[in-house]
Amino acid sequence: MGDKLPSIRRIGIMGGTFDPIHIAHLAIAEQVREAFGLDLVLFIPAANPPHKQGRKVVPAYHRLMMTQLAAYSNPCFHVSKQELERTGPSYSLLTVRELQERYGANAELYFITGSDTINELHTWYHIEELLKSCHFVGTTRPGAPVDKEALVKCFGRLAEEKIHFLAVPELEISSTDIRERVRSGKSIKYLVPAAVEAYIIKEGLYQ
Ligand code: ATP
Ligand code: MG
Repeated sequence: MGDKLPSIRRIGIMGGTFDPIHIAHLAIAEQVREAFGLDLVLFIPAANPPHKQGRKVVPAYHRLMMTQLAAYSNPCFHVSKQELERTGPSYSLLTVRELQERYGANAELYFITGSDTINELHTWYHIEELLKSCHFVGTTRPGAPVDKEALVKCFGRLAEEKIHFLAVPELEISSTDIRERVRSGKSIKYLVPAAVEAYIIKEGLYQ
């Protein structure tokens, strides 16, 4: 009596540059939340994306604000500023370590990604250690079929144990495309949440 272990909490990590956040980010997070029984999903904007050095990204406070506006209407979605508060590149391993400390040993972490990201995992900082610390879920993304054989070749049993896949309704949307649409005066209505569209217009982003 009374010594029942606290139940395991499953926490989703939705990392990205979110430049800007769009409805495919929200849709994959919600699909994974439901399929994997996650208690909450943390949207974590990257400060200094290690994979995007060289491209100009809009200031972090704009990306954070848009992420907060987008996540607001889902009670299971939260936004974490942790990568914006650190200096140096936004290595996911450091983020996961911070979350393990914050949520304790009874939390299971699920990194939510699109299939393009899964295909690039071998380039990530200390990826083997990261795979030992959390799960990954690769959702289907148009134009990015996953090469499962290559993953197993690269990571062996770790790939089989820690990388999961989920088929989701595929949306051919990217932040790159949204930025180009804004620049060329095309509509982004319904491709981003209404509040994000209004914010982009008000702040004159991506012109
Ligand atoms: P960019 O064009 O600037 O690279 P993006 O749309 O790819 O932007 P990111 O912030 O790079 O967005 O991606 C964050 C995460 O969301 C990544 O894991 C990526 O694979 C996933 N993702 C983004 N768009 C989609 C989509 N349309 N379908 C599935 N996953 C997606
Ligand atoms: Mg991308």
